[in-house]
Amino acid sequence: MIDYIIVGAGLAGFSFAETLFLEGKSFVVISDVSHNSTLVAAGIYNPVILKRFSLPADAALHLEYMGPFYKRIEDRLRVKIDYKLPVYRRFSSIEEQNDWFTAADKPLLTPFLRPKVHHPNYSCLPSPYGFGEVTHTGYIDTVAYLEAYADYLIKEDKLIQEPFDYSGLHVSEGYVSYKDMTAKHIVFAEGFGIHANPYFNRLPLDGTKGELLVMKAPELKLDVIVNGGVFILPTGNDLYKVGATYEWYDKTAVPTVDGLNELVGKLNELITCDYEIISHLAGIRPTTKDRKCLIGTHPEYKKIHLLNGLGTRGVMLGPYMAKALFESIEHGKPIERSVDLRRFKF
Ligand SMILES: Cc1cc2nc3c(=O)[nH]c(=O)nc-3n(C[C@H](O)[C@H](O)[C@H](O)COP(=O)(O)OP(=O)(O)OC[C@H]3O[C@@H](n4cnc5c(N)ncnc54)[C@H](O)[C@@H]3O)c2cc1C
Repeated sequence: MIDYIIVGAGLAGFSFAETLFLEGKSFVVISDVSHNSTLVAAGIYNPVILKRFSLPADAALHLEYMGPFYKRIEDRLRVKIDYKLPVYRRFSSIEEQNDWFTAADKPLLTPFLRPKVHHPNYSCLPSPYGFGEVTHTGYIDTVAYLEAYADYLIKEDKLIQEPFDYSGLHVSEGYVSYKDMTAKHIVFAEGFGIHANPYFNRLPLDGTKGELLVMKAPELKLDVIVNGGVFILPTGNDLYKVGATYEWYDKTAVPTVDGLNELVGKLNELITCDYEIISHLAGIRPTTKDRKCLIGTHPEYKKIHLLNGLGTRGVMLGPYMAKALFESIEHGKPIERSVDLRRFKF
């Protein structure tokens, strides 16, 4: 008998796998490629919600836990995934500058917002009102992360690349069995794929579609992540990710003309140099109505658990939520009510 089966190989599933590795537990990950939120993600981590100048609950804790978590993976798998870069918020008026200084004065935000207006010399990105700098930010190269982690699991014989057949799961008093495996627990981490899961598909995980562009812009020469209507994230070799859209009705992970037009329109308002669009991607973020994660144990089946609802912030939330779920399962540590799946009746 192994300790855990994990279903899903995105930020959620791999965060839980890494937590199990650190805790010395045995496990197998089963995943197909039917959902791709992690692969499409820009991977930016930024504790501050720049639209409202607010800090989500526990964001500082999530950030603090995340750094060493990804660093250990980098060291062990010898792969570079964490790129620390400041986020520059472009101001479009004096009022926005003033709002920035007011926010930077708030004790919770002071560690993250520099109380200064920057006027860097980005010739293709005119900004008469300058920029405010957010610190402790950067991005995780999610494609490199998923590839490296999947390779590692394959070498360890711990990754089964196929769809999970829910009808093949049998739940007993002290364990679960699936095909020729028995495990003490099963953790579902299927992102938007939760809708096919008969144990959890009545939970309100609505999903929010996001589209993103990859462009080449040799003259742009940005060395920070710019936020100003859209974000522009430099990933090296004059390549940039530009995103993202938010669409609540269309639940297909297919790029659209509307998405393209929205991103290009906002980009053209920001930059003045030529660029070439290299690719156009779309995915469904696993978002909930109250914008909180969905983690915990099934109310009826005590060996079945969920790690989902990472929403728009999977990079920061994945590691911390994986640890919280693990501690709840193994040590009975209560899950915080705001993210506990039992806040919903289903
Ligand atoms: C355009 C866009 C931009 C984003 N930008 C950012 C960002 O900058 N920063 C950030 O933190 N977050 C960002 N996100 C959000 C981020 O992508 C998510 O929070 C995160 O990736 C969710 O991870 P997950 O593991 O829950 O889901 P997923 O990445 O979707 O992984 C789920 C996995 O489970 C598998 N699966 C599902 N059902 C089954 C089944 N029945 N059998 C087997 N396998 C199954 C899927 O194929 C997939 O491999 C962005 C998302 C989008 C769409």
